[in-house]
Amino acid sequence: MRVVLLGPPGAGKGTQAAGISQEFGIPHISTGDIFRKNIKEGTELGIKAQEYINKGVLVPDELVVEIVKDRLTEDDCKNGFLLDGFPRTTVQADSLDVELSKMGIGLDKVVNINVDKESLIQRAVGRRICKDCGDTYHTTFNPPRKEGICDKCNGELYQRKDDTEETVNRRIEVYLEQTKPLIDYYNDKGILVDINGEQLIEKVGNEIILSLRGE
Ligand code: ADP
Ligand code: ADP
Ligand code: ZN
Repeated sequence: MRVVLLGPPGAGKGTQAAGISQEFGIPHISTGDIFRKNIKEGTELGIKAQEYINKGVLVPDELVVEIVKDRLTEDDCKNGFLLDGFPRTTVQADSLDVELSKMGIGLDKVVNINVDKESLIQRAVGRRICKDCGDTYHTTFNPPRKEGICDKCNGELYQRKDDTEETVNRRIEVYLEQTKPLIDYYNDKGILVDINGEQLIEKVGNEIILSLRGE
């Protein structure tokens, strides 16, 4: 199964990715997570990406496309993959098409998670991430058992620098301008699935899995 998760910032892509990845035995590939890991480790890529990410704008296509291209050739992608946060521009989507067709494969489904702007801001501003395992929580909608501590690994939770109201607003604008056109792009290819993201986390997850199974 080769799947792309599409949706505005804070829609719940990362949250849903874990369940999908487990259900279909495919790796979860999040370009945002890859950048955050590189920023944490202070790599050249991290240093380059950081200035864009903190401003709430997209990292240049060339940088992102190369990373994903490399990642898709790794062994664990043989039976499929789940892309989260990529592609985000039509240039990225075209490059992905080209790369996959070179490999003799294509995408099976693109899951588009729909959430209103007001909820997106609430979700992003309350988002907390584990500094050790990257698990995602929400102060109100998905709180950890112990405040500030990861349920899974006891790691400390932190708030992303780009999850302030101002930066989230900018990221939503960037989404509307550069990423939203991908909905039509994939709808025209007949592989788009629309999901109502304004439901409980479990409900959204069940709907995604049912639709990917083709039920
Ligand atoms: P994305 O990867 O699309 O940016 P996340 O999965 O990180 O989004 O979710 C953003 C925030 O919203 C997180 O704090 C998460 O816990 C919360 N969240 C995710 N799905 C839901 C939902 N269905 N209802 C309420 N909050 C949610
Ligand atoms: P969210 O889903 O909440 O927007 P991500 O973790 O997916 O967050 O992305 C965080 C930031 O990383 C984005 O705002 C952007 O600057 C950068 N980024 C992630 N993926 C891409 C991509 N495919 N193209 C360009 N920039 C990206
Ligand atoms: Zn953790």
